[in-house]
Amino acid sequence: MVRCASLTATEPTLALADQDTGRSTERSLRFAATARRLIAMLARLPWAEFATLGIFIGIVVWAVWFTTEDAGSSDASFDIGAFLSRLWEFATDFYQGWDVQILLGMAAIGLALERIIPGRRQDMTNLPINLGYSAMVLLFVGAIVPLQVMAADIVVSGLGWRNIFDLRFDASQSIWLALGAMLLNALIIDFFFYWFHRCQHTVSVLWQIHLLHHSDMALNVTTTHRVHFLEHLLTPFFLIVPVLILFDLPDKEMFWIATVPALWSYFVHANARIGFGRFWWLLSSPQYHRIHHSILPEHHDRNFAVWFPFYDVIFGTAYAPKRDEYPPSGVEGVNVSKLPHAFWLPFRQWWGMAKNLTARVRGRRTA
Ligand SMILES: [Zn+2]
Ligand SMILES: [Zn+2]
Repeated sequence: MVRCASLTATEPTLALADQDTGRSTERSLRFAATARRLIAMLARLPWAEFATLGIFIGIVVWAVWFTTEDAGSSDASFDIGAFLSRLWEFATDFYQGWDVQILLGMAAIGLALERIIPGRRQDMTNLPINLGYSAMVLLFVGAIVPLQVMAADIVVSGLGWRNIFDLRFDASQSIWLALGAMLLNALIIDFFFYWFHRCQHTVSVLWQIHLLHHSDMALNVTTTHRVHFLEHLLTPFFLIVPVLILFDLPDKEMFWIATVPALWSYFVHANARIGFGRFWWLLSSPQYHRIHHSILPEHHDRNFAVWFPFYDVIFGTAYAPKRDEYPPSGVEGVNVSKLPHAFWLPFRQWWGMAKNLTARVRGRRTA
């Protein structure tokens, strides 16, 4: 009886315990399923793109920090609040400054021109990505300019040659002298740009950086600053260093000496039916630069100069556009449709190159 009584007493307890165990197992299973879903969701996020954006933002933050007065200070009490407000001030000043106003002004003029005399009819879904990307990259350039100059200066000082040819003159005396100074600056810079640009097309590692600029399947005025931020890190070594070594140029500080050539680079990217006929070799036009961006094989690695096509003529890379030749632009198999993809593009290409190389080495070993 006692045994029976004890049995009848423990049965409900066991049943309750079973119920509790069942519930906790169910809870654990639900928790595990939620955790699995969460992990799968996190794994689907574009971490590589986030990392690239992180590098981009990191360089901007570091550049602003480096060029402000706290840099190099041994003061241990670095004020993060003050630094963040300086960063904010830098960004707001920049977005109210000339660079962004020129970008917006030229985009408006260029797009109007493209409606009146379009080079070719094309789908313009790339506008938001181009404008968003350009606004970010211009901020990047604004932040790193002092560092570009500093890096070039260090290299030139290290080499020990500087300003071998003194070409300075007072350009403020007349409009003709100012025009001459502008032309001289543009001629010399375009010469070095030509070779930098040609290297970007012929050296595979550099091409992966330049690819973003060429990936636009609807070349237009907003493509001008669709240039990967890593390209701007190369500028000191390919452009500033050789110019600094060889030349001391006239009045670089005059506003429009630098601005007019910059505006021209917007103009040549416009999707406008403008070529310069038989003077195509003298000054770059939207038609001339469209050939450079063409997806057609016969136009590949042609027309590198941004301002003066005669450099292409001299060095054997010129393609004289035919009367109605406004080819489609882009690179076969490359479609950059989202902002993070634009930042990530060269890193992804390099990763592909490294994998191919490894596979080739392995293939050779096993052969
Ligand atoms: Zn190019
Ligand atoms: Zn271009």
